[in-house]
Amino acid sequence: MTMRRIVVVGNGIAGLTACDSLRSAGYDGELTVVGAERHHPYSRPALSKALLHSGDGNSDGDGNSNDGLRAHELPEPTHDATVLLGVSAAGLDIEARVVRLDGGGELPYDGLVIASGSRAKRLAPRQGAAGPRRDGSPRELTLRTIEDAIALRQRLADRPSVLVIGGGPLGMEVASGCLEVGCEVTLVSDVRPLSRQLGEHLSGIFTTAAVRHGLRVVGGGKARFIDSDAGGRVALADGTELEADLVVTAIGDEPNVEWLTGSNLLVDGQLRVDSRGRLRSDIVAAGDVAAFPTRRGVERIPLWTSAIDQAKVAAIGLLKGDAAPEFNFQPYFWTEGFGLSLKAVGNTAVVGAPDYCEPGNDPDSLLLCWGNQAGSGTAVAINYRIPIPKLRRLADAGPGALRPAAPLKL
Ligand SMILES: Cc1cc2nc3c(=O)[nH]c(=O)nc-3n(C[C@H](O)[C@H](O)[C@H](O)COP(=O)(O)OP(=O)(O)OC[C@H]3O[C@@H](n4cnc5c(N)ncnc54)[C@H](O)[C@@H]3O)c2cc1C
Repeated sequence: MTMRRIVVVGNGIAGLTACDSLRSAGYDGELTVVGAERHHPYSRPALSKALLHSGDGNSDGDGNSNDGLRAHELPEPTHDATVLLGVSAAGLDIEARVVRLDGGGELPYDGLVIASGSRAKRLAPRQGAAGPRRDGSPRELTLRTIEDAIALRQRLADRPSVLVIGGGPLGMEVASGCLEVGCEVTLVSDVRPLSRQLGEHLSGIFTTAAVRHGLRVVGGGKARFIDSDAGGRVALADGTELEADLVVTAIGDEPNVEWLTGSNLLVDGQLRVDSRGRLRSDIVAAGDVAAFPTRRGVERIPLWTSAIDQAKVAAIGLLKGDAAPEFNFQPYFWTEGFGLSLKAVGNTAVVGAPDYCEPGNDPDSLLLCWGNQAGSGTAVAINYRIPIPKLRRLADAGPGALRPAAPLKL
C-alpha cells in the first residue's frame, strides 16, 4: 500500500528521528506528530546533568530557561510535519486506522509510528487508573520532563537535605547534581550503586568517587514512601526510616502504553516489535515504549541512542517492509557524576576486573576493556579522551587489540 498519511505519536527523540528518517528516505506525504508535551523535542539526558546544577536556575516556568542554559535544546525540527503540541493520543483503532485524540478528534493514517516513550516510576501509590498519569504524592519528586527539571532546580536553590531513592545512573546523576549545588545528600540503593548497569568493578570506581564527594549511601532494602505533610520520609525494608527536606525517586521507568489498551497490540502489557520495528505492516514502534529482539531476548532498552537507532530502523521498516534492514543493536551508554564522565560501548554490565586498563593523563582517567564470550568486548573510557568510533572499534576487536600493553591491576 502506498503511504500518503503517516502519524507519529510521541514527540521525543524517537518521534523526531522517525520523522527525519521518513523524510530522508524520500517520504513526501502528510506527516502529523502528536506530542503530549508542549515543547519541541529536547535532550532528556541533559536534564540530570548540566541543566540540574549549572547557572542560577531562573526560568520563565514554561520550560524555557532564561539564564543562558541551553544544554537540553536540540536544533529546530526540519521534517516539515504538522506538529500537535500538548495533544495526547487517547486510543487507537487498528482496523479503521485511526488515532483518537484526547480532545475528541481523530487522525486517520496509512502508517503509524508509536513513539510515546515512558514515564518515571513512582514509590507513592497511584491514585487513578488511566492516562499518562501525574499521580502519586506531590512530595515525591521524579525527573523525566523539563518541567520536572525546573521544579527540582528551583527546590535546590534553598540547599535542602535530599534523599535520592535508586542507585542507577539517574539516581547517581541526581545525587551528584544535588551535592554540586551544596546539598546534603543521602542515596538509598538496595545494591551497590550502578552495579546492575555497570558491574561491580565500575560501580566501585563510581561509588568511591561519590563517597569522596560527600555522598552518604544507605542500603536497607526496598524503600516505601511515607506521605506526610511534614516532608519527605521513606521506610526501608529493614525498618530504617529516613527523612529529608526533599525526596527524589529514580527507580526506573514504565512505558506509556495505556492509550493502546484495547488495540490488540499489547502482549502482556508490552509493545513487542520485530527486528524491523514492526507490530504490523502499517504500524511500527520505537524508543522507550518498545521492546525489541536482542541477544538476551525481547526487551526494552530505554536509552537515548537506542531510541534513535530503533526509530531509524522502524521508519524504513514502515516504508519498505521486509526489504528494510534489520536492527543491529550497538549498545552505547554514557553517564556523568562526582567528577567522572564515563562512555561505554558494548554490554556495560561487565563481570570481574577489566582485561585491559590504561591510565590517561589525568589522575581519574582510564581506558578499560573487557572481553566477553560472544566475541566482541566492552570498551569504557572514564575521563579519557577518545572518539566514540575508536571506542567502538576497541569494543568490536576486544581487549586483545590493545595488547601487548601490560594489563594494570587497579
Ligand atoms: C533525566 C534523564 C536522563 C537520562 N540520561 C540518559 C543518558 O545519560 N544516556 C542515555 O542513553 N539515556 C538517558 N536517558 C534516557 C533517554 O533520555 C531516553 O531513552 C529517551 O529520551 C527516549 O526517547 P523516546 O522518544 O523513546 O521517549 P520520550 O523521551 O519519553 O518521548 C516520548 C514522548 O511522547 C509523549 N507521549 C506519551 N504518551 C503520549 C500520547 N498518548 N500521545 C502523545 N504523546 C505522548 C511524551 O510526553 C514524550 O514527550 C535519560 C532519561 C532521563 C529522564
